[in-house]
Amino acid sequence: DLSRVSRALLSVSDKTGLVDFARALSRRGIALVSTGGTHRTLTEAGLTVTEVADLTGFPEMMDGRVKTLHPGVHGGLLAIRDNPEHQAAMLAHGIQAIDLLVVNLYPFETTLAAGRPPEDCIENIDIGGPAMIRAASKNHADVAVVVDVADYATVLADLDAHDGAVALSTRRRLAQKAFARTASYDAAIANWLATRIEPEVAPVFRALGGTLAQGLRYGENPHQSAAFYRLAGAARPGVATARQLQGKELSYNNLNDTDAAYECVSEFDPSRSAAVVIVKHANPCGVAEGDTLLDAYERALRCDPVSAFGGIVALNRTLDAEAARRIVEIFTEVIIAPDATDEARAIVAAKKNLRLLLAGGIADPRAPGEVWRTVAGGILVQGRDAAVVDDMPLKVVTKRAPSEAELADLRFAFRVAKHVKSNAIVYAKDGATVGIGAGQMSRVDSSRIAAWKAAEAAKAAGLPESLARGAVVASDAFFPFADGLLAAAEAGATAVIQPGGSMRDDEVVKAADEAGLAMVLTGHRHFRH
Ligand code: 5GP
Repeated sequence: DLSRVSRALLSVSDKTGLVDFARALSRRGIALVSTGGTHRTLTEAGLTVTEVADLTGFPEMMDGRVKTLHPGVHGGLLAIRDNPEHQAAMLAHGIQAIDLLVVNLYPFETTLAAGRPPEDCIENIDIGGPAMIRAASKNHADVAVVVDVADYATVLADLDAHDGAVALSTRRRLAQKAFARTASYDAAIANWLATRIEPEVAPVFRALGGTLAQGLRYGENPHQSAAFYRLAGAARPGVATARQLQGKELSYNNLNDTDAAYECVSEFDPSRSAAVVIVKHANPCGVAEGDTLLDAYERALRCDPVSAFGGIVALNRTLDAEAARRIVEIFTEVIIAPDATDEARAIVAAKKNLRLLLAGGIADPRAPGEVWRTVAGGILVQGRDAAVVDDMPLKVVTKRAPSEAELADLRFAFRVAKHVKSNAIVYAKDGATVGIGAGQMSRVDSSRIAAWKAAEAAKAAGLPESLARGAVVASDAFFPFADGLLAAAEAGATAVIQPGGSMRDDEVVKAADEAGLAMVLTGHRHFRH
């Protein structure tokens, strides 16, 4: 596999180091062939070089679009040297073997980066260069291919080390690099064209068959650009499929918060109860079930009326006039519901800016799906959290078992905790949250915040006692220490629901027993980071 290199074809846009390299090849007895511009540079430097046109019998034409696309070139690159038929074909058609190919491509990427007009970018899409590179790389058993000026020295050293031949291991490495180069070159062209077909659609979403749902004025902050894409086949009733009946254009934060609200309210089966979720900054600040939407809304609002200002309200049933009338009394950014009665629509219509979204249905909380998140330079993908507390066998671990009423509230609180950022602590009573602690780095801080919010809510409602008193409490993950649980007991909670599984479960159970709490373990956690 160590046959000497006797002919090299050089065709380069970047002429850095070209003359020295060609001269070094020539000195080693290697015949040189090259295309127009490269040929000119080399002959001006006093080298003897054959023109490609002499190999093909055709002049370069069409502004250089067609220079080397000819069997005279490609036969010389692709012929298998020890294949008698290939040899016969070369002989019959006067094709000369090319043992070394040196090509760097039209500068498409730098033309694009320089902001040049599309015609210039198009003209800088190299066709013959990649074709030759791919031919030589495919045939690296016989041909060495150089696509990078940095490899000129490597090749010369190799020629000297192997009596004028390039080692197979080097040819293989060069071929790999060459295919990587044509791949990235084509990717750059494809990505550019994607922006020209539909400027707003990012290539990754196009690849997935996604479509632009809405261009957004900005992202989380005004200095960030943003857009909203709908993925192909999106059938889950929610923010991406909802119809906006009225109101200002939705912002990035509105969409994110509305999604959080609707996913949470979808946990509540509309045939069992009316449910309302009020969201701020992607966390629920009040959730309640009720006989009617109005009742549920009033009780959800009571949990944290201060935070509810400028919030997103999600409902699990058709919005009716009674609920609509009450909701519009408070500054609200978005209302989302499966549907709305004509009367409710008319009431909301009085608030021009208020966005009303109709999702057409409620999403199945158990349905599988994917959740994506970008990290620097990559995408994390996971299945959505489709675990529902009703399906979890609850294990009572304390001396006292929860009462029926406590059990119902425990389930309710855990259902909500799934939609609260970790560390999540949720106090609930009579099917309504009364204190929510979200997004803290320590569980005991979330416990304290939730208890404090419950006390604040009582003050706002003019009640003498914290709303946590006599409530139950849910934790999205186990209590690593008894302190979080003790904070709940101190606040007046009577029962606890949590996944369990801490090394100190015994300690936590003991503390619960001492405080007279009932505690159940779900065996499932609901981290939400
Ligand atoms: P030169 O400066 O030698 O005239 O042109 C060198 C450039 O032409 C190299 O970047 C090479 O990849 C490219 N090239 C070689 N053959 C062809 C061809 O047949 N068509 C096109 N479009 N480009 C070619």
